[in-house]
Amino acid sequence: MKVNFKIHSNLLNMTINLVTGGTGFLGSNLIEHLINKNQKVICLDNNITGNIKNLRKWKNDKRLEIIEHDIVDPIFINADRIWHLACPASPKIYKLNPIKTAKTSFLGTLNMLELAEKLKIKIFHASTSEIYGNPREHPQKESYWGYVNPIGIRACYNESKRISETLCFDFKRMFNTNIRIARIFNTYGPKMDQNDGRVISNFIVQALKSKPLKVYGNGNQTRSFCYVKDLIIGINKLMESNYYAPINFGNPEELTINQIAQMIRDMINPELEVLYEPLPLENDEPERRMPDIKLAKKILDWKPTISIKDGLSKTINWFRKNIDFE
Ligand code: NAD
Ligand code: UDP
Repeated sequence: MKVNFKIHSNLLNMTINLVTGGTGFLGSNLIEHLINKNQKVICLDNNITGNIKNLRKWKNDKRLEIIEHDIVDPIFINADRIWHLACPASPKIYKLNPIKTAKTSFLGTLNMLELAEKLKIKIFHASTSEIYGNPREHPQKESYWGYVNPIGIRACYNESKRISETLCFDFKRMFNTNIRIARIFNTYGPKMDQNDGRVISNFIVQALKSKPLKVYGNGNQTRSFCYVKDLIIGINKLMESNYYAPINFGNPEELTINQIAQMIRDMINPELEVLYEPLPLENDEPERRMPDIKLAKKILDWKPTISIKDGLSKTINWFRKNIDFE
């Protein structure tokens, strides 16, 4: 399928970014950053988990074009660079249709790499800390190959993200495709969908609705949470660099889910109860996760600057204004 679109004449000298997954959480934050740099963006999304509302601010802005498209199907669009983020990222969502998740991740990445190769342009791929599985190395360095259950409930996501990295490297080896790979650890902030099921949005929405916070399992499992603004700065530094191998992006402050629940409850309403529920992904749960970010510091001079307290407070403020209380 070939899509042609009109470019306003005074936009012709601008960098044209093709952003897949642009109506989603990270994609829409990235688009905001690119438009603020006065660049042109073409957003490609089927809106399965994304929300067009995330981009409504630029509804009549000529710097943004939105194309509804499922990236499982090939597409030809002219651009200067590709930011490939399209894929459901929340376990609650990606396990609903695991075959579609795997297809989106594998075929979507293949289609975008083929486009990057045809146009001879740079492509950024949003990979994930999930490729480390339930890691036996802690913290996780980029050199760690991971410990992944290939037949578990998470496999549709983490295994398809692993093969996506393989595809990136095979395109690099065969065609010298200009790849950038970010291994993104848990990220949170404004524009998260209130129903997408990730832990920080769930806890904030539960607390704002004066409901108990629901911890899965015993809450001793850990994650490391990065505020979205820090991530967006990091991946832009990566795009501008010459470094093509995977780099971790995350905040190396490791917290248990119990600690996160307590922090959010105390910031919104200390009276609320914390309840415990069985783990929904059975025994396919990473017990500990924390990035080693030495490589990002060395290559990109990047590290997160926003503390978890400040990041949570900004996120809570955003949800207060944007939450649907019905
Ligand atoms: P999200 O669900 O908010 O956004 C994903 C976007 O992709 C949505 O807009 C969705 O509609 C779109 N999409 C899904 N399937 C598609 C398809 N077949 N065709 C076209 N569009 C499709 O998730 P997010 O948190 O913004 O994640 C974006 C990317 O970053 C994903 O690739 C994810 O794996 C990666 N990532 C995110 C995190 C995180 O903590 N947010 C961590 C690691 C990796
Ligand atoms: N979790 C939780 N309550 C929720 C949502 C998630 O206790 O409402 C837990 C989940 O079991 C996991 C952690 O929080 O241990 C992070 O979950 P999330 O879905 O945000 O991301 P991922 O598991 O992919 O890191």
